[in-house]
Amino acid sequence: GATPAAELDGFGRIFGVETEYGVSVTGADRPVDAGQVAMTMFRPVVSRARSTNTYLDNGSRLYLDVGSHPEYATAEARDPMDALAQDAAGERVMASLAADAQSKLRASHGEGAVIHVFKNNVDSAGHAFGCHENYLVRRFVPLETIERQLLPFLITRQLYTGAGRFTPDGFQITQRADFLDEAVSSATTRSRPMVNTRDEPHADPESFRRLHVIIGDSNRSQWATWMKLAVTHLVLCVIEDAVRHGRPSGFEDLAFADPAAANRAVSRWLGPGERGASDGAGADPAGTPDPLSMQRRYLDVVEAFVRERHDDIDASLPKTGVDDVIASWRWALDALERRDFAALSTRVDWAAKHCLAEALRRRRPDTDLARLEQLELDYHDVANGRLYASLVAHGRLGEPLDAATVAAAKHEPPSDTRAALRGAFVRRALDTGAQFSCDWTTMVVSSPVRREAVLLDPFSCEPTEQYRALMDSMRA
Ligand code: ATP
Ligand code: MG
Ligand code: MG
Repeated sequence: GATPAAELDGFGRIFGVETEYGVSVTGADRPVDAGQVAMTMFRPVVSRARSTNTYLDNGSRLYLDVGSHPEYATAEARDPMDALAQDAAGERVMASLAADAQSKLRASHGEGAVIHVFKNNVDSAGHAFGCHENYLVRRFVPLETIERQLLPFLITRQLYTGAGRFTPDGFQITQRADFLDEAVSSATTRSRPMVNTRDEPHADPESFRRLHVIIGDSNRSQWATWMKLAVTHLVLCVIEDAVRHGRPSGFEDLAFADPAAANRAVSRWLGPGERGASDGAGADPAGTPDPLSMQRRYLDVVEAFVRERHDDIDASLPKTGVDDVIASWRWALDALERRDFAALSTRVDWAAKHCLAEALRRRRPDTDLARLEQLELDYHDVANGRLYASLVAHGRLGEPLDAATVAAAKHEPPSDTRAALRGAFVRRALDTGAQFSCDWTTMVVSSPVRREAVLLDPFSCEPTEQYRALMDSMRA
């Protein structure tokens, strides 16, 4: 087949994160519609790319569908750290589009106009939008196995990856639980599944699928983004290896009878006893297993597997140390067990918000939901928010990436996937003024003569003949 055996036999993974952002304006002297703001943000993109759908020289995709939710999808990464850097670069891309649009807007709508770009998942009208994780998974794993064995993990993982949300019925540790109603589906439009298996692998379809995880929240915490990709990778490694060798994985008996209900229960994990929650929140449907014990089960199995296959698993992640992932995972579960929210707040988005709210309520007992929602929006605002940056500046929230790495990732794709080739292609097209288009597997120059290159293997950063010819066609 088209896929080298080493890739099928090994544990190498391709990661990608898509983030949709919410847009709004405050302080304008007359009303502005969010769609209009998003279009203003994309004006420079359209003038460069003749479309609101384009790829950047870091290999990522930047686009605006109908509506007002700009999206940034990271280039393919082999390591969660690289995916994180690319996603953080996406925040910067959005922030600079917003800064330009804001100066334009101020000319027409008053000097007080401020554009907000929210990396969150629910807007003020109660519409949810997404942060999708993508994982290349070996096709020999049946979908049913993914549903039964991975989904319970994804649901309970929210204990440390949830972004948290203040609601009229109390604090939830996730943003999206109330908006997801179906476990696995092949469509995103009608239903809201947690895992989408729509068959677009962007790779050799005989060997791979692209698992599209919809259940997760957008994270500001860099640790959380890194962590959710890394732990999910390890669980997938166990599942793939078990199927490959026809052995049990150890995750056979963990499936939830009603995944959507379990997800909503996990989101209310803090329970009605927690300050700010009204009665009724946190009620577990009878028979729902304790999510923390389930995470312990996953950790035990993964840890035993990693001990057995240490070097292979460690080699699957070029930058991330597998022992660091395990240690972080145990740290999070231990802190959850102790309900040590102060410790968790240095890494976990929901805990950071929760601790801020508690501090605020201590100072001002009359703090109401509106004030908490305001605080929350500021936390998620990558364009003009202050809260997140101030938590980082005061050492209250850690950032695994330094600013230089994030700045570099705005223009540098991961160096060890096909994104490196795409990035160089986009760079040259922009430098030479060639008219170009892309998707994840194809690059096209449309004038003066049409040429294209197809790169089906996401793991490969080796230029092919076809790719060289395409690049040569753009020499100035
Ligand atoms: P939608 O926006 O409608 O949900 P989508 O999820 O199919 O569409 P994109 O928004 O274009 O597609 O994002 C695709 C994501 O998948 C990117 O982050 C990209 O890096 C990642 N990706 C590309 N190829 C692969 C692959 N072979 N395996 C896993 N992830 C991949
Ligand atoms: Mg997308
Ligand atoms: Mg998607």
